[in-house]
Amino acid sequence: MTLALRLRERGFGVTLFEASDRTGGLAKPTQIGKYSWDQFYHVILMSDINLLDLLMRLGLSDRLKWSKTKTGFLNDGHLYSMSNIMEFLTFPPLRILDKLRLGLTIFYTSKIKSPAKLEKILVEDWLRKLSGKRTFTKIWLPLLKSKLGENYKVASASFIWASIDRMYKARRTGLKTEMFGYVDGGYAAILDRFQKTLDDLGVKTICQSRVTRVADNNSHVNIGISTGESLKFDYVILTLPCLELPCLCPQLSDEEKKRLKRVILMAQKSLAGYYITNLTDGWVPFTAVIEMTAVVDKTFFDGNSLIYLPRYVSANNVFCKKGDREIQEEFVSALERIYPQFKRGDIVASKIVRGKNVLPITTLDYSKELLPPVQTSLKRVFIVNSAQIVNGTMNVNEIVGLANRKSKEIIEFMSNNIKEEIENAKDFIDLFTTSKIEFMAISKEGETPLIYGKNLPELVKKKIELMGKHINDEPYIDPNYMMRRAAMPVF
Ligand SMILES: Cc1cc2nc3c(=O)[nH]c(=O)nc-3n(C[C@H](O)[C@H](O)[C@H](O)COP(=O)(O)OP(=O)(O)OC[C@H]3O[C@@H](n4cnc5c(N)ncnc54)[C@H](O)[C@@H]3O)c2cc1C
Repeated sequence: MTLALRLRERGFGVTLFEASDRTGGLAKPTQIGKYSWDQFYHVILMSDINLLDLLMRLGLSDRLKWSKTKTGFLNDGHLYSMSNIMEFLTFPPLRILDKLRLGLTIFYTSKIKSPAKLEKILVEDWLRKLSGKRTFTKIWLPLLKSKLGENYKVASASFIWASIDRMYKARRTGLKTEMFGYVDGGYAAILDRFQKTLDDLGVKTICQSRVTRVADNNSHVNIGISTGESLKFDYVILTLPCLELPCLCPQLSDEEKKRLKRVILMAQKSLAGYYITNLTDGWVPFTAVIEMTAVVDKTFFDGNSLIYLPRYVSANNVFCKKGDREIQEEFVSALERIYPQFKRGDIVASKIVRGKNVLPITTLDYSKELLPPVQTSLKRVFIVNSAQIVNGTMNVNEIVGLANRKSKEIIEFMSNNIKEEIENAKDFIDLFTTSKIEFMAISKEGETPLIYGKNLPELVKKKIELMGKHINDEPYIDPNYMMRRAAMPVF
């Protein structure tokens, strides 16, 4: 949506295809009983400058609400608060030396200016070396497993750098109070306003239209949609997860397809006054407890609490095969064990939401080996997706920033294509004037062949001149073009 906004603001005609019934992807809302809220937990950080800038653009800044939050830690069946430096220092599961090393690991990692070198070290090796075996096993390992499943074994240390970087930015100073925000109404409010803004700007959005095929045929790109339609565009930008791209676009080179298929992606499924409670006890079937109503005003839910129980697993994990009922039973039983005051009869409504391919994992040498470039081997097909976030965690702020940056790159590529078009046109004049071959002007649409005759090289020269003159202009739509065209010659 951000790419569509940025390209439209620069004057390009944009059509947005969305497979589901509404735009918003992972951030869209779901119905839980009579309440509607984000299908996966989402909060905004004070450091999310790209997102805050977008919210201002959408006129939603005044609907932002901020809350101070606390962090909990479940260890050996005990729930501890770990929300400030004092609580950290008195955290019983670790000895003072372990805490010192843990604090130093976080501090040292956060001070690294060029995280690229961390791509050469496995996250496990990095954390074991800095924090020591005991802290790694007691703290880091459960945390890594909670976010990456068994894939923590292949993730590089840049993952922890990015996570610490985001955590540091989230706190105003060091390990002090965290402030988290949301827009009144949740992501539904953001997405509704965003969609309206796009509609008003003239972006055409087509929902329930999964793109099933993309074929670049040099002068344009053909796309096939699940409705059976086939449409033509000048350029296509693919914003889907990497794994889906080789199948969607068979023309990509074998090298590219191999690279895209190697990006590892994680799947995801969906109580205490802490926003987040980290779990280090291995028996718990979910990986954290997110109490959204520690951030969001409870009045949205008639005073009830909204709790997310996430679990990240790799796509081939047996957990993915479990039915909703089985998952629900496992999760509720675990909640009852963790929080003795909680009873299953307290549940007002619940829902299990599964997300596919949500988190690309930065493995060793990721930037060099796997990072997908924006420009594919096809001239008119581009990729912009979360697999291009290298030194950041996956979140809306990063995605919005990525779309802002990549829209500029894509516009640059497009103007390079104009330069190529100029060279092509020059070659054509050369061929036309020197070749002994007879030429016949044919046109499928747009321009009429009737205007071409012996003066074709002259017309192409004028076209070259005009393209050269306007190459750096912002594209725009001239609604009076036809009127003026009828009244006077264009050239
Ligand atoms: C559990 C969880 C918690 C999170 N918490 C936070 C948080 O607190 N703060 C935060 O900022 N971020 C959070 N995020 C991350 C955030 O949701 C993502 O970074 C963001 O939504 C990614 O946006 P995207 O457009 O790249 O991809 P997606 O949201 O995955 O969107 C892709 C879109 O493409 C559509 N699509 C797929 N295939 C096709 C096709 N062939 N044709 C047409 N359309 C297609 C999909 O339907 C979808 O709408 C969280 C994510 C998860 C899973």
